Amino acid sequence: MKILIIDDDVIDRMAAIRTLKESELSIGQIDQTGFPEEGIAWARDKQYDVILLDYRLPPSNGIEVLRELRGLQGFSAAVVMVSHSNDEELALRCVEAGAQDFLMKGELSGIRLKRSILLASERYELERRISESHLQLRQLAEHDSLTGLRNRYFFDQALQDAIPQARRNGRNLALLLLDLDKFKNINDTLGHVAGDEYLVKVARRLELSIRDGDNLCRLGGDEFAILVHDLERVDQIRLLVKRLFDSLADPVVINGAPVDISVSIGVAVYPECGSDPVELMKSADVAMYRSKELGRNQVQYYSQRFHSAMENRIQLENDLKKSLYLDQLELYYQPLIDGTTGEMSSVEVLVRWNHPVRGLIGPAEFIPIAEETGFINEMGRWVLTKACQQFGRWRQQYGLSRSLTFSIAANLSARQLKDHGLLSHLHYCLEHYQIPPARLELELTESCLENSLVVLDQLTALANLGVNLSLDDFGTGYSSLAHLKDYPFNILKIDRTFVSSIQQESDARLLKAICSFAHSLGYQTVAEGIETELQRDICVSLGVGRMQGFLFSKPLPLSEFEFGWLTSESGSC
Ligand code: C2E
Ligand code: CA
Ligand code: CA
Repeated sequence: MKILIIDDDVIDRMAAIRTLKESELSIGQIDQTGFPEEGIAWARDKQYDVILLDYRLPPSNGIEVLRELRGLQGFSAAVVMVSHSNDEELALRCVEAGAQDFLMKGELSGIRLKRSILLASERYELERRISESHLQLRQLAEHDSLTGLRNRYFFDQALQDAIPQARRNGRNLALLLLDLDKFKNINDTLGHVAGDEYLVKVARRLELSIRDGDNLCRLGGDEFAILVHDLERVDQIRLLVKRLFDSLADPVVINGAPVDISVSIGVAVYPECGSDPVELMKSADVAMYRSKELGRNQVQYYSQRFHSAMENRIQLENDLKKSLYLDQLELYYQPLIDGTTGEMSSVEVLVRWNHPVRGLIGPAEFIPIAEETGFINEMGRWVLTKACQQFGRWRQQYGLSRSLTFSIAANLSARQLKDHGLLSHLHYCLEHYQIPPARLELELTESCLENSLVVLDQLTALANLGVNLSLDDFGTGYSSLAHLKDYPFNILKIDRTFVSSIQQESDARLLKAICSFAHSLGYQTVAEGIETELQRDICVSLGVGRMQGFLFSKPLPLSEFEFGWLTSESGSC
């Protein structure tokens, strides 16, 4: 038996060792320490059978040490708490905290200690077995034995818990019901063993399609359910549905022969399609049956509004892919005004989509779709090419007579930083249209500042090309200010929310703080969303470098921009 004594009093430790030796226990090793941290470290590294733990262990106490011990991975020692005090309540607290026995130091004798240690060891073993079988029971109760997925019992509980949670954090919750089409045929023609194998293989594929944290359960037979938590927008469910269908696209091989997989999916979201578990379940079920009726192997969303929103989204996704070669994308131009001279010092290009049916669509609607589908890379390159081409033209047209003093700015999505061809494409544009890199600004939002070396490398490479990097919508993200200095941005474009809240001078405190922070670190500043003269005047008084907003101009199509800002009367170039 290996024993550890943790007691800050050396005399008590010696006494305990003596008593242990008298106890006729077969003891292989006794370690002793007066320092709780040392005791905890030893208990972690060596496997003791019993620990004698003093209650009085300044600056903490035995119960705290006990809690730490019990929190150690694989901790498996019985603990006997010892104390000078004969306090029943204390004894009870020690046992409640996980000690197997409590002894008074004054009563320590060889026989008592031996009895206590043996009882403590037995009690510990019993507790261990109970907890193990509890875990096993839980595993059995919550899992489906065939596929290993969670079962209906777990699912009901998870759905019950998920709704109040979604309500609390104001997120959407989606429930997908999946029913395999014609599973009965497989069972009937190939037999139950093959049917089981089919289910297991389908389960493995489904498992690979879901995100960590979402729950995939087998409700029984050929029915599965997926709970998707924390959805920011309901249309994100589209991606999951696509992944599910993709994962089931190839047949599985059963008995050496391919068997196709077909599944009908019904989707309901909380709160739109049901406010409690029963309603939500019913809605998903209705949607799933509609999928079956409409010809199987498809998805249906419960409510008409939800369904048409999804259809709309699919349509938009498909249209967007074609927008480039159908020449439907167009750049708009919005000037940025120098805070000192009041003249245009740069122009930002903003993309628009001329949809043949829906008219002009703003980027807020289609950039997220382009980002999710990956189309943003292709589109982003087009924006860069167009912007450089146009800027090159202006330089030729106006730059010959009088030097053209302004720069051009384009937006980049975080995802474009992972496009390996971005750098060479940009390099090509700058060379081909003869643009000095210092005259180009790339605007990126804080969402790109994830902790990734690839991103940092790409940003550094862009900065090394000589272009300016501007952090767009600054102040809305969560990046720490200290962190900011690790990235090669030289411009902070302060988000419009800090400007729009200014109705009077005293509202400008936040903006003032941001400006002084930015200037003291050597960043150039831009304020966006300037709509009133008061906002402009305050920005000027705070030393904001450049300003942008409807007060000066909204984003304009090329001809209007040229007419308003580039003709000689405007004096801008
Ligand atoms: P952003 O980069 O913050 O662009 C400024 C947005 O603010 C523009 O909206 C502009 O119309 C609007 N705005 C300008 N002045 C004012 C003002 O005084 N008041 C108010 N309320 N709004 C003002 P837009 O053009 O709809 O663009 C929205 C966002 O779409 C942009 O935000 C940008 O993040 C993104 N975006 C636009 N073009 C591109 C692009 O080519 N590539 C990428 N990746 N994103 C783009
Ligand atoms: Ca921008
Ligand atoms: Ca912005």
